[in-house]
Amino acid sequence: MAAKLTDLIAELALANRILAHEGVLDAFGHVSVRHPGDPNRYLLSRSRSPLLIEPGDILEYTLDSQPVKPPKAHLYAERVIHGCIYQARDDVMAVCHHHAPAVMPFCIAGKPIQPVFHLGAAMGEDAPFWDQYDEFGDTNLLVVKPEEGQSLARTLGKHNAVLMNRHGATVVGGGLKELVSRSIFMCQNADYQLRALALGTPDRLHPGEVKLAGTLSLLPTVVTRTWEYWSMRLKASGAIPPRGRAAKSAPPRAKARRKR
Ligand SMILES: [Zn+2]
Repeated sequence: MAAKLTDLIAELALANRILAHEGVLDAFGHVSVRHPGDPNRYLLSRSRSPLLIEPGDILEYTLDSQPVKPPKAHLYAERVIHGCIYQARDDVMAVCHHHAPAVMPFCIAGKPIQPVFHLGAAMGEDAPFWDQYDEFGDTNLLVVKPEEGQSLARTLGKHNAVLMNRHGATVVGGGLKELVSRSIFMCQNADYQLRALALGTPDRLHPGEVKLAGTLSLLPTVVTRTWEYWSMRLKASGAIPPRGRAAKSAPPRAKARRKR
């Protein structure tokens, strides 16, 4: 289990950086994965921009989104999104919350994202909208209270993703690689859908096509191939995370010199 956990933590750090490098995450947004040995816990970084995350940043949380060990670092304010979805959906093993530029026009205009090309089928037939204002009135739009996270999880229902009005999106997956693939292809789909509007009315996949193409996109061979591709792009950019539980920040060099 220890080796499996260490590998998954390394994979989570890599997933954060891939999603940042591919334009899904920016300074904000976060990715989590359910604990491989305890379904009542999940793994998520301390509060840090996803492109910088390394294995040493990853912490364990209960499904109430409380850190298992007293935290020494600042935590993500919106972590209830993750805990509430894991509580509501036994089948969900990984969650990504983001504000990607590709989806924001849809979240602002309240227009649905629909699968418009074969790889876009990874998002499923549709993604429901959740407007925090409907239930909670004026807020700063961050999902921080358990009741807000539970409401979001209710709207997500059995879907693969939920769009959050004037805020962003939350995507779920049966595993980390599946989640990364779905998040990236959903953003590509949103980009193509918006661009196709300049040429006419975008055509969407038929329900049967969504089912068949969606199944294809989840095949291990496909998911492994895309993961390898995005990892290589990240590597080429020089942003691959260090292995192992690295220090949370660089040791203070001046202090080290004084010791000597
Ligand atoms: Zn957010």
